[in-house]
Amino acid sequence: MTKVLVIGIDGATWNLMKSMAEEGKLPTLKKLMNSGVYGDLESIIPPTTTSAWISFATGKNPGKHGCYDFDMPEDSLSNVRIITSKNIYGTTFYELLSKNDKKCIIINLPGSYPPRINGIVITSLMTQGDNCVFPPNLVDEIPEFRHYRIIPNVSLHEKGKIMEYVRDIRKLERHRFECAKKLFKRDWDFFFVLFSGVDWVQHDMFDKLILGQLEEYSDPVMLYREIDEYISWFVSNAPQGTYLIIISDHGFKSYNKIFYINSWLQKEDFLKVEQKPQKETSSGKFSVESKKVKLKRINLKFPLFLLKYFTWLIPYYMKLKRVLPIELKIDVRPKLSETIAYSAASTVRSNFGSIYINDKKRFADGKVKPELYEKVRKEIMERLKHLKDPKTGEHIVKKVWRKEELYFGDKLDVAPDIIFMLSEEYQVRSGLGISQPFGNEIVRNSNGHALYGIFLAYSSDIKRGLKIENTKIYDLAPTLLYIMDVPIPKDLDGRVLKEIFREDSELSTRRIRYQNIEEREKTKIKLKIKGLRTLKKI
Ligand SMILES: [Zn+2]
Repeated sequence: MTKVLVIGIDGATWNLMKSMAEEGKLPTLKKLMNSGVYGDLESIIPPTTTSAWISFATGKNPGKHGCYDFDMPEDSLSNVRIITSKNIYGTTFYELLSKNDKKCIIINLPGSYPPRINGIVITSLMTQGDNCVFPPNLVDEIPEFRHYRIIPNVSLHEKGKIMEYVRDIRKLERHRFECAKKLFKRDWDFFFVLFSGVDWVQHDMFDKLILGQLEEYSDPVMLYREIDEYISWFVSNAPQGTYLIIISDHGFKSYNKIFYINSWLQKEDFLKVEQKPQKETSSGKFSVESKKVKLKRINLKFPLFLLKYFTWLIPYYMKLKRVLPIELKIDVRPKLSETIAYSAASTVRSNFGSIYINDKKRFADGKVKPELYEKVRKEIMERLKHLKDPKTGEHIVKKVWRKEELYFGDKLDVAPDIIFMLSEEYQVRSGLGISQPFGNEIVRNSNGHALYGIFLAYSSDIKRGLKIENTKIYDLAPTLLYIMDVPIPKDLDGRVLKEIFREDSELSTRRIRYQNIEEREKTKIKLKIKGLRTLKKI
């Protein structure tokens, strides 16, 4: 029976990994590059973790699966919700594998909560609530899962203890690996595990890592070494003939200029903001939601702000801080009754951005009448095209798309209306409530996502030492189905990466089987029944 193992390294890019491999820091990866096929893997636009992994899982562009970012507005631009598997329109390849009696084990795949299959699913940071182990009784069988964490201790990061935070990430990933090892010993046909730590660490340190400024055995570098070691364990413990695929959902880059999209929309009178003070207890338990809300909040620590002028207050402040359970925070939000357009999703800090028009037809509290929609969209696009960096006088927008020019499929209705790409050195940030659209000053943590991630494939049937091109994240689903000899639905956007197979192998000549309509209908019915069963358990 054909077995496939996919290892994800969130945010990995060859720009860094290749040089680390050549320097001898990643010996397993180096060996696999020499004995397998590798190349860049194009993500989706914008290159966001959740929507990219969903394109991996469905083999489709966001226009078909309907997930465009980490979070998306629902009935109002002020109601932005985190994406879960319930938002995925259509079928994932692992549901098809499951339907074809292939045993699947999936660990940490974004967009896999709530689980869509009856196999073993350990969900990702998008989990809503505490339960991320499915079936839940797995915790009794594998006690290690009692201490399983999906996110690191973010309070360390908030306190500025970055190295401790990285150490905590290393600990988390080692524990994830220990749990994965236990599951790897079970019976499976398809095994997926994602290591997220590389993305988390790169958000803080990619600039230093790429310049080789960190010591060889410092915590961030150790994380890469350890992941290489985990890959080595999987390779040596995989059943004979297993196909190994290593991918990332997007690449990484260090940007040196910042563009605040909402600040620009505000300056151009497309967006109005309102500010409200908010009482809040100390940060408490981290959740993805609270983190995202924080991004849109100016954290005015009121007493600290005063301290700038009244240093003599310091001792009093320190005393007060201890007894006061609250901090004064200001919530900045779009004033929807006067807002025409808004970049609602949490931007991924890449050179891509998106804008939603406050469309009356689409949003309950929308402002733009349907007859004005096109006019407004054209106007914003025109102004974006002419946008110049005031310091250099250069046009910074390389491309602007209407949603229907970039995406295609049945779920265009929920897409952002405008998507744009900045020139390589500029990073897009939300910037709600920030006075100037351009942050040309040296900004800390300007590391962010980039379009090209990594692809690597290795098995005795796969070519050796070949660098390949033109692979896209949505090519994985049809390729995996093909390797596992399961008929491929005709509506996938990706292609089978046939060029990776050795010419003398059966896979290079096998006919690609597509699902016929009958099979598709049968699958739908089966999945509905299975889906109901799975959801009942939650
Ligand atoms: Zn990612």
